[in-house]
Amino acid sequence: MAPMYPPQSRKMQVGVSTLGNGADIQSAAQAGGTAACRQLSSAFPSLLFSSDTAIYANQSHLPWSQTCLLSPSCVFLPQDAEDVAHAMRVIKRTRAPFSVISAGHMPVPGAASTDHGVMISLHDLKHRQLSKDLSVVQLGPGNIWQDVYDYVAPSGRAVNGGRYGQVGVGGLLLGGGIGFFSSQVGWGANSVVQYELVLPDSSIVLANATSHADLFWALKGGSNYFGIVTRFDVKTIPMGDAFYSGKIWTSASTLPWLNALNAYLAPGGGAEDVKAAIMPMIALTPSDGVYEVISLEFYADAVNEPKAFENFTAIDGPTLLNQSGVGPWTILPTALNTPAYAAKDKRQQFFTVSFKADPRAVSIVNHTVFDQARTTLQHVADLSISFSFQPISKAWIEAAKARGGDAMDLDPNDAPFIAGLMSSTWSNAADDAAVRDFSRKAATSIRQQTAALGLGHSFLYLNDAGVGQTPFRSYGNGGSLKRLQAIQRKYDRDGVFRNLLAHGFPLQ
Ligand SMILES: Cc1cc2nc3c(=O)[nH]c(=O)nc-3n(C[C@H](O)[C@H](O)[C@H](O)COP(=O)(O)OP(=O)(O)OC[C@H]3O[C@@H](n4cnc5c(N)ncnc54)[C@H](O)[C@@H]3O)c2cc1C
Repeated sequence: MAPMYPPQSRKMQVGVSTLGNGADIQSAAQAGGTAACRQLSSAFPSLLFSSDTAIYANQSHLPWSQTCLLSPSCVFLPQDAEDVAHAMRVIKRTRAPFSVISAGHMPVPGAASTDHGVMISLHDLKHRQLSKDLSVVQLGPGNIWQDVYDYVAPSGRAVNGGRYGQVGVGGLLLGGGIGFFSSQVGWGANSVVQYELVLPDSSIVLANATSHADLFWALKGGSNYFGIVTRFDVKTIPMGDAFYSGKIWTSASTLPWLNALNAYLAPGGGAEDVKAAIMPMIALTPSDGVYEVISLEFYADAVNEPKAFENFTAIDGPTLLNQSGVGPWTILPTALNTPAYAAKDKRQQFFTVSFKADPRAVSIVNHTVFDQARTTLQHVADLSISFSFQPISKAWIEAAKARGGDAMDLDPNDAPFIAGLMSSTWSNAADDAAVRDFSRKAATSIRQQTAALGLGHSFLYLNDAGVGQTPFRSYGNGGSLKRLQAIQRKYDRDGVFRNLLAHGFPLQ
């Protein structure tokens, strides 16, 4: 039995009437949070956890980045959609701030946790059920992708989810989803055939192509503005063995690596092979200048050394890692599910910028991020900074449209392009501003320089975006925002999600 939620303090009881305006709001939020926690505690004594419990400590530390650790008033661990609906009734009544967390991998402070409110952790919603014909798998949002892959692979199936096994099902599918099979089936979200969700008014609905079709569209990229998804029904892909490769070269191979990347992206290159997926990355540790070029490769067929990656295979410089082979398709996500990637003891941050797949743009990134980070960020303790060139192919966007489309609404005529991810890891809070400002300026500079050459692309991938970026504005070249806002208002007449729920990015 969990401890009951602690009684309201005297300070909170008097706060609203005695403090100034900003403080009034904070105090009202605190009071709302305290009231919601108390009411949930009496309805669900074993599912509501206050700050003096081990489960609270564990759940409030789910965020992957230390920059995202906040202090919720309590943590609620629903066991099913009915529990979530009950929590929504309490939250609406008490006007308590709240957050929703799946596995906590969005490194944006305030996206999935909250101060002075209820953190709804979907951690226990780990339902997994393959249909009899194996074509669809039902997934609870508390699953991580590794759990999903380990569940479906023995049946000869795959799902187009995250490439790193420890990432959460909930956030990834609601923000898009770059997977190993995206050139065949689009974003991860494009494989969702039905959502079970709790709406802001506490009703539980199924959204699919024919019922709540507006929500069905909005949830494919709309993040957490539309409801709390308690089940994703996802199309599977028949899949057995695949090719995988992980290679890290020293800086001596920078030029051949850049050439290999450019050849991969060029017309007729590997990026046009829909079975190929690649994560080409440059990584730098500014304090010692160590610079590495990396290629993680996946081919959705049991083909050794596929032609698609031939230019990377041909690089003959010294390697720090060189593994490849054919085996069960889950080998790569499992290998990427290492303690190093899963560690939550660092400060982490993403920033995204897109541009056309062109050698001049690749060169701009290399100079803008890495030449400058060497000097500007040399002092930042334990900093490593990487840039991933994530190719979005024309086939990918066509597949997304063929599956009914999504709120991101990309134009196949603007493809191929690169959805770039700048990722930083460091240790001290004192360096937060320096790393954030550097990344923001670098992303802006890349956007401006590529645009000046006619190589710009406006898309901001929500799942890779950073503080202050506005991905929703970039959807459909600006054409999706009004529709998303109208759908949001239709289902959230009282502004419960708009005003009380923690979000990563403004729907503006
Ligand atoms: C190591 C690492 C590897 C990654 N690899 C990939 C990759 O291969 N492909 C890719 O596309 N992205 C990748 N990402 C980015 C990832 O998709 C996002 O960070 C994503 O938001 C993480 O989902 P989560 O459930 O773990 O995060 P959370 O932080 O728990 O959630 C993210 C947001 O979604 C909301 N949310 C989550 N679940 C629900 C729900 N059920 N209902 C309503 N709202 C919900 C939360 O409130 C929050 O605002 C990676 C990130 C990391 C850190």
